[in-house]
Amino acid sequence: MNTDNRASTTEILLHQGERGLPFNAVSPPIFQTSIFCFDSYEEFQAALADESTHFLYTRGNNPTVNLCEEKLAALEHAEKAKLVGSGVAASSLAILSQLKTGDHAVVVKDCYSWVQYFFTTYLSRFGIEHTFVEGTEVSQFAEAIQENTKLIYLESPTTFTFKLQNLKQVAELARSKKITTIIDNTWGTPFFQNPIDYGIDIVVHSASKYLGGNSDLIGGVIAGSKKLITHIFESEFLPLGPVPDPFQAWLIMRNLRTLHIRMPVHYANALSLATMLEAHPKVESVLYPMLPSFSQYELAQEQMRGGSGLFSFRLRTRKLKDVKAFINALKFFKRAVSWGGYESLVFPAAVKFNDNETIPDDRISLIRIHAGLEENALLVGDLLQALDCIGEL
Ligand SMILES: *Cc1c(COP(=O)(O)O)cnc(C)c1O
Repeated sequence: MNTDNRASTTEILLHQGERGLPFNAVSPPIFQTSIFCFDSYEEFQAALADESTHFLYTRGNNPTVNLCEEKLAALEHAEKAKLVGSGVAASSLAILSQLKTGDHAVVVKDCYSWVQYFFTTYLSRFGIEHTFVEGTEVSQFAEAIQENTKLIYLESPTTFTFKLQNLKQVAELARSKKITTIIDNTWGTPFFQNPIDYGIDIVVHSASKYLGGNSDLIGGVIAGSKKLITHIFESEFLPLGPVPDPFQAWLIMRNLRTLHIRMPVHYANALSLATMLEAHPKVESVLYPMLPSFSQYELAQEQMRGGSGLFSFRLRTRKLKDVKAFINALKFFKRAVSWGGYESLVFPAAVKFNDNETIPDDRISLIRIHAGLEENALLVGDLLQALDCIGEL
C-alpha cells in the first residue's frame, strides 16, 4: 500500500510539526490558553476576518490542538483534519455540513447507534430524510439513491455486526452523482485503512478508541480536503462549539506515538482469539473480517492492511442464562462499553435489553470482544475457563 513518498507513520507521529519547539523541548507544550493577543489593530483585524487560519480564541484554533490535527490529517492521507470534543460530534458535524431541509441521505443500517439516532430522531425534525441500507453490495446504495440524495454515510466495518462496504465502488457511484461520502473509520484506524485513497470524501473517527488508546479520554476527528474541513470549521464547528481541550489534544498526541506498536498487537490477539473461538464446540459463529471464513474476507484483504482488536461471536445457545453464566465467569475481561484501550473487554448484545423484553434471535447470544494488549495466553485461558463454566449446551 505505502508505495508513494508520503511520510512514514513514525515520522508523522514522532516528528511532524515538532521542529523548533520552545526551549528545545522534546514533548510539545500544552498551550492552555483561551485567548491570543495581537501586536496591532491590523493583526487583530486580520485574525477576526479569517479565524480558520489564525489563533484568536481556543474555541476555534489552538496550537496544541492544531499540531495534533496536522498529524491526524497526515495519517489519514487528508489535506486537513479537525479535532472535536467527541466521536459523535465528528459524525454529526460532518453530516450537518452536507444536508439541509429537503435533502436525503443513504446510511449504513448498523452504523454507530447515536448516528442512527441522529438520522431517525434528530434530523427528521428538520425535514431531512434517510434510507438505511445493509451496505454489503454497491447495488443497495444505487437502489436507495434519490433525486435529492446529497450524502452517503458509511461505517466499514460496522462494530457489532462487522459488515463491510466496498469503498472504491461506493465512492465511484457517489462521485458520478455528485453525492458526498462520509465514513466512520474508527475500527480500522488510519494504521489499517485509508478511505481517502479509495475516493471517500470525509473520514470521521472516535478518538476515544484506538487513537486515544488508553481508555482515558473522549475525542473525535474529521479529516478531508482543505475545502471541506474549512467549510465544516466555519459552518458547524464555530457555531456549535464541540471544542477539544488542549490537554485532550496533547493526550491524543502522546498516545498516538504508540499507535503503530499497539495496533499489530490488538490484531494478533484478536485473530488468535477469533480462531480459537471458531473451533470451539460451544461457539456457533465468529464475526471477524480477518478470519478466512468471514463472508467478506476478500474485500477486507483488499481494502484493509489488517484488523483491529474488536470482533463478536455467537454462543451455540439461545438461552439468556447461558450468556449470563459465560459473562459472569470471565475473570480477566472487563464488562464494559467502548473499546480501543490497552485492556480486554466484553459486551454481550443482550445487556442492552431489560430482563422482561424479548431479545431478537440474532442478538441474544451475540457477544462482542475487545482484545487488548495483554499476553495472549492469559486471554485465551480466561475465555476457555468461562466457556467451561456454562456446562453442556
Ligand atoms: C465510540 C464510537 C463512536 C462515538 O464516539 P464517542 O467518542 O464515544 O463520541 C462513533 N463511532 C464508532 C464506530 C464508535 O465506536
